[in-house]
Amino acid sequence: MDRIHKKSALPEATPILLAAHDAGATLAWGRYEQQLPLCGFTSNGLNCRKCFEGPCRINPFGDEPTRGVCGADRDQIAMENLFQATLDGVLETSRALHQLGMDEKLPDISGSVGQKVAERLTRSGLLPVRRSDLYAVQNSYFSDKAYLGQTLVDLTRLGLIQYALLQQADSSVPTITPGAVNVLALGQPSREFLAALHTTAQGAGKGLNVYGRADGLLPVADQGSPELALLMNVSALLIAPNAAMPGAAELARQRGIPVICLDGTVSPSEAFSQAARHAAQAAYATSAEIVSHPVPDVVSCATAMADAARSGRIAGIVVLYGEASVKQSFFERTLALMESALVGRVLVVLGGEIEAHAACLNAELGRRKPGLLDAFTTDLGNAMEPVAGIGPSGIPGIVSLLNTPDLQTVPSVFSFPEFFRASTWATAVAVFALGFPVQIGIRLPFWGATPLPTIFEQWGQLTGGNLLTAASVPGPAAQADELLACIKAGGTR
Ligand code: SF4
Repeated sequence: MDRIHKKSALPEATPILLAAHDAGATLAWGRYEQQLPLCGFTSNGLNCRKCFEGPCRINPFGDEPTRGVCGADRDQIAMENLFQATLDGVLETSRALHQLGMDEKLPDISGSVGQKVAERLTRSGLLPVRRSDLYAVQNSYFSDKAYLGQTLVDLTRLGLIQYALLQQADSSVPTITPGAVNVLALGQPSREFLAALHTTAQGAGKGLNVYGRADGLLPVADQGSPELALLMNVSALLIAPNAAMPGAAELARQRGIPVICLDGTVSPSEAFSQAARHAAQAAYATSAEIVSHPVPDVVSCATAMADAARSGRIAGIVVLYGEASVKQSFFERTLALMESALVGRVLVVLGGEIEAHAACLNAELGRRKPGLLDAFTTDLGNAMEPVAGIGPSGIPGIVSLLNTPDLQTVPSVFSFPEFFRASTWATAVAVFALGFPVQIGIRLPFWGATPLPTIFEQWGQLTGGNLLTAASVPGPAAQADELLACIKAGGTR
């Protein structure tokens, strides 16, 4: 918990981190520091656990061992890790939808990806995508390097499946009830459980807000970590079987917050009673609140955006998507990209957990560059805000919008400045598969493959996209310059 000021760029996080420190809580930062130095083999994708003859690892300096037991070399092993990470990410999304009973056929995505892209993907045999394709994709490069092209096709196919799954997800988000009992859900609760929870609350004459990052939940401004939300006004923690962050339960119990596993042992009515009892005590660690104040949904700004694009008042559009990662100061890179984009008259669209923090991000930008947001709003004729969110329409909503005739020629880039989830990586692959420039703000754990830059280039030739990523991640300012250069170069698909 040393150097608290370095953990988040948002000052709103400081009192929460201090409260956690005073309570002796162990948070992600402390556990990360105990992991250091990180394993150099794993960080570069140079270990393999594909079969039980391993685990194998490759010496990154060229000494022995240079091959796994099966004969796979460093390039094949690192590419296997890239492939598995992408597949895991898509499966994460698919399984979350399964929790909601949404196992039906994938939707036809050709209508939202743009005519040219749809034609290209159809010609390559990549459209339509089917859920069963998840069983057919292969990292054939692992068996023989002559199969690189086949592997890249299958990686692209995985990206398209991820996109179709995102389009399939029910995007309805409930509205916030002020003064209600606040519950935080980790992972994807079933639709039935959520409905029963709300019915119980209604029957008891009380309001209920269920926050989380899954479908059907309210976005949560948790300052980048669910653990921090537990030091705010949360009265129960729901843990779905597919939840990340298992360490959160320990902190919740320490704080006396009811922890409810969705394994059928606690009924929705009992879960609500426990949460309501905790809320009645209002024994929260800080006065901070988990409520997020979303920016306008970008789809509702479509007409104003088209006007701004036609009149040349915007130079481009950047979509910033992802979630805070303990490997960098939360939101620092996001803020650097936002600031640089707005100075360069580029509209900023926020998505994922970054969007839930839109109010704090805008406030911090206002402190760093007074008047920047207001000046851009005025330039836009006050018809729209320079910062919008993708809201419940999600990635397919913004992709659809960017493919409308008015916006198709406006340079646009998807940037993932900070993230840790495999499903977020799969989302990056999804937009790359649709031909967009994609900027990555974390170090990908696959750089042990020596020809990775060439492989990414070849992959880009297949998708029409451009993957802006490097073995040494540039600092936030350098990445902001890279983003603007990409917009200037006309980052269109
Ligand atoms: S390198 Fe080959 S032998 Fe070693 S774990 Fe991977 S697949 Fe198995």
